[in-house]
Amino acid sequence: MATKTKNCWKTAEKLTICAVLVIYLTGCSFAGISGSQSASSDAEKKVTKSDFALDTVVSVTLYGTDDPTLAEGCLDLCHKYELVFSRTDSESELYALNEQNSMTVSDDLLSVITTALHYCEVSNGAFDITLGEISDMYGFTSDSPSVPPQDKLDAALAHVGYQHIHVDGHTVTIDDPETVVDLGAIAKGYIADRLADYLKENGQQSAVIDLGGNVYCVGTKPDGSDYNVGIQYPFEDTSKTITTVHVSNMSVVTSGIYERSFEQDGVLYHHILNPQTGYPYDNGLLAVSIVSEKSVDGDALSTTCFALGLDGGLALINSLDGIYAVFVTDDYQLHYSDGFQAALEQ
Ligand code: ADP
Ligand code: MG
Repeated sequence: MATKTKNCWKTAEKLTICAVLVIYLTGCSFAGISGSQSASSDAEKKVTKSDFALDTVVSVTLYGTDDPTLAEGCLDLCHKYELVFSRTDSESELYALNEQNSMTVSDDLLSVITTALHYCEVSNGAFDITLGEISDMYGFTSDSPSVPPQDKLDAALAHVGYQHIHVDGHTVTIDDPETVVDLGAIAKGYIADRLADYLKENGQQSAVIDLGGNVYCVGTKPDGSDYNVGIQYPFEDTSKTITTVHVSNMSVVTSGIYERSFEQDGVLYHHILNPQTGYPYDNGLLAVSIVSEKSVDGDALSTTCFALGLDGGLALINSLDGIYAVFVTDDYQLHYSDGFQAALEQ
């Protein structure tokens, strides 16, 4: 019988820092100032706090202040949410659900599972939150990742399928005891939204939340203009960008094949898996970035659109209001959803 443990959000030492997005404040008088001591007014102040949480580096930058209290509050919240959404921490609520198979869950876990199931359905199962067991078999975050043997893949695939998850009020039931729910493709987006709420509720008008490349820009820059968020050039240093978007009060999230991947026998194996085969999607995409008001949608949709491929992903985004996407294909061409350039690149 398969054990329901594994490596989502577990191994700091295995971290591949995937700061997919590069935030920079061009045109600001204070660009480049790293501390607040030299600042001459509140508008020029900023403070950043970083930590390892959610299996990645998280950082929160507050603008217009040098008081780190709210940034530290955000990092505390990240650790609090780890205890809800981590699949591997035996203290977490998701861990308990995977062990017990049926239980009453918190509003947070209910919300993420419900939203995730929506994207499972919208994508006809290309996005599927029951791939955790298979993800673990590859060991993407381990020292020696490898392709699982076919018989093991087949055995695990028999228990993959979001249809095994049922929601009735606050009760969530997994009807196959060997099915493992994994919220790694969506939870960081939900957490970014909660951090943004926390900052706004506490009067912080201007901030950037970066949960390992899952970015939320709170308000505007202190001078009232948009933030410039650079989207990483695939496989290059994180400081090299392939395009830049201008946003305020928006989330920017990227799923890319260069984030967690390894090479075996000349083939690159990445971490976005096809639930039909257990192998990584091989559809000519290098990355998909989503710009949306809610980061939970951006996170789920970046993975969903990657799974659907260029045509299916573009069709999905073009059917949604206020959500934009840019796809990078393996010829390094950019493919934009309707209105992307007019809304975000001006
Ligand atoms: P990351 O969180 O690593 O930046 P994503 O948001 O794209 O990247 O989520 C990828 C993670 O989601 C994988 O590490 C795995 O845990 C899980 N996953 C892999 N394939 C799928 C899929 N087809 N549908 C839903 N989740 C997936
Ligand atoms: Mg995602």
